[in-house]
Amino acid sequence: MCKTLKMLELQQELNDATNGTGWENGITKNGKQIDWRRCTYLECAELIESYPWKHWKNIDAQPDYANIKIEAVDIWHFIMSQALEDYTVKKLGTIEDLSQSIKSLSNFHYFREEIQPTTKNNYEQIEVIEKLMKVLFCKGSTETLMEAFIDIAMQSGLNLESLYKLYIGKNILNKFRQDHGYKDGSYIKIWQGKEDNVVMQTILENKSNISPNDLYKALKLHYPAS
Ligand code: MG
Ligand code: MG
Repeated sequence: MCKTLKMLELQQELNDATNGTGWENGITKNGKQIDWRRCTYLECAELIESYPWKHWKNIDAQPDYANIKIEAVDIWHFIMSQALEDYTVKKLGTIEDLSQSIKSLSNFHYFREEIQPTTKNNYEQIEVIEKLMKVLFCKGSTETLMEAFIDIAMQSGLNLESLYKLYIGKNILNKFRQDHGYKDGSYIKIWQGKEDNVVMQTILENKSNISPNDLYKALKLHYPAS
């Protein structure tokens, strides 16, 4: 199985279910405008907020490493969505072509291997995130976006294998959220004092080969309203 293609297919399914088919044209089934670039740069901001960058507050704090991975996966959802939209609207090719073009990026080779701890300090890592934001604001190509994202993923401690695992987890959590009132605002995000993301990560850590279906069921068991 090709993990890159699988993630693109799952993202397509999630977007079809959440926004209605045809979302690639920029409007959801509820008539709301879609802006994947804005979604992405705000997740980049959330990622930056996981580093102790503020010079006036908690100056000795450490980066929130678990959250850094989650925010990178959040960015991945939106970057893939932008790419899926580009490939459809600009008729750049099929979902398989997109997957192939990601796999031929210059840094993808390293992304497949064991992850090496980054030698960059916190400020240098933030610069890598801001580089992706720059590509977004300059409306760079799908490939430039993807390449900038892979650099972020690797410095966040993710390789293709671990990104895939966490992506499946977050994708299922996003489905779960949609099924439990995320759109109308009735969804409960804090479960027994922990954020739903953290609960999802703990389930994944305790059961390494959990199927997407079993993960969904486990989330349902932990959800406070059920
Ligand atoms: Mg967010
Ligand atoms: Mg986020």
